Amino acid sequence: MPGTLWAIAEAGPDGHLTKLSAEVATLVRGLGAAAGRDVAGVVVGTPDAVAALAGELAAYLPRVVAVEAAAAATSPIAALAAQGALQAMGADPNASIFMGNFPDGRDTAGLLMAALGVGVISNAGGVTWNSGPVAEKGVFGGRLVTTSSFADGHGIVTVPLGSVPAEAAASAGVVETIVLVGAAPAVTVLERVSEAAGAVQIEEAKVIVSGGRGVGGPEGFAILDSLAEALGGAVGASRAAVDAGWIPYSRQVGQTGKIVKPEVYIALGISGAVQHKVGMQGAHTIVAVNTDPDAPIAEFADLFVIGNLFEVVPALVAELAARKA
Ligand SMILES: Cc1cc2nc3c(=O)[nH]c(=O)nc-3n(C[C@H](O)[C@H](O)[C@H](O)COP(=O)(O)OP(=O)(O)OC[C@H]3O[C@@H](n4cnc5c(N)ncnc54)[C@H](O)[C@@H]3O)c2cc1C
Repeated sequence: MPGTLWAIAEAGPDGHLTKLSAEVATLVRGLGAAAGRDVAGVVVGTPDAVAALAGELAAYLPRVVAVEAAAAATSPIAALAAQGALQAMGADPNASIFMGNFPDGRDTAGLLMAALGVGVISNAGGVTWNSGPVAEKGVFGGRLVTTSSFADGHGIVTVPLGSVPAEAAASAGVVETIVLVGAAPAVTVLERVSEAAGAVQIEEAKVIVSGGRGVGGPEGFAILDSLAEALGGAVGASRAAVDAGWIPYSRQVGQTGKIVKPEVYIALGISGAVQHKVGMQGAHTIVAVNTDPDAPIAEFADLFVIGNLFEVVPALVAELAARKA
């Protein structure tokens, strides 16, 4: 049916559907019901892996197109996702397309924008339907909320984590399989480097223990690791810590990092600059430890501890261990 709403999904490092993709699929299903439009999903992967991934996506959508792409093992996935989505969608000038606002999703959105000549609303935290997608998003570091829609009622929307809870449909959808045609992307992936085995990704974590310049160096992050481990959480960081090379960029929270929504965010030695705040202000509870009573983070933390993180964190870890014993 013309004007189908599409969800482009992706696999995580474990090969399974990401939580964000499940959320995007749930959002699209809800919008389709509100709009009276067909909804569908598309996922691209190697022939041996894509069927299982499509099956996971079909738990959320009535129709999923699995795009087999032999090049998926050696090509940037965003390029293949865009190519695969164009093939799966066919000619549908009124289609709207949704994907996660993570690096691959953003790249895919840019490629589809160029290919289709439509607009993109990025990082849309709340999406509803009124003759087309209507998106709310925070701008100027979250100081303002704007409401945007497409002039001609359709376009591309990227969605951050936590916009809607992922909820499977009452019954699983059907999966169609197609084979990607056309040349492989000109760029070849030479190497994929996985983060340390067992490291919890910040975008999926319920608890994030985040360190800033106050952590003082890479060795300082070891005590953050111990607290994250005690709480079953993940370690995040401010840009100052990432720029200093103390922790990888994949851990950066903020405007130019990741936007996270954990239940608890523990900011250690982080001042609370607006570019950091915009990435973590959606946390349910914010705890901050800082030696400076006037640090900006005091204004929006739910619990603000004036203290030295090198004293507070070991004491907290010891208390947690004592309670578990
Ligand atoms: C375009 C742009 C994009 C940006 N994007 C991001 C982004 O995505 N994410 C991000 O984080 N930043 C981002 N920034 C940078 C941002 O403006 C801040 O510079 C950065 O967040 C500061 O990091 P910080 O809080 O770790 O360091 P600082 O501001 O230097 O704060 C360190 C804090 O540690 C405290 N401290 C020191 N020692 C201790 C101790 N022993 N115990 C407890 N507390 C201690 C200090 O009192 C201080 O409050 C961006 C900036 C720009 C211009």
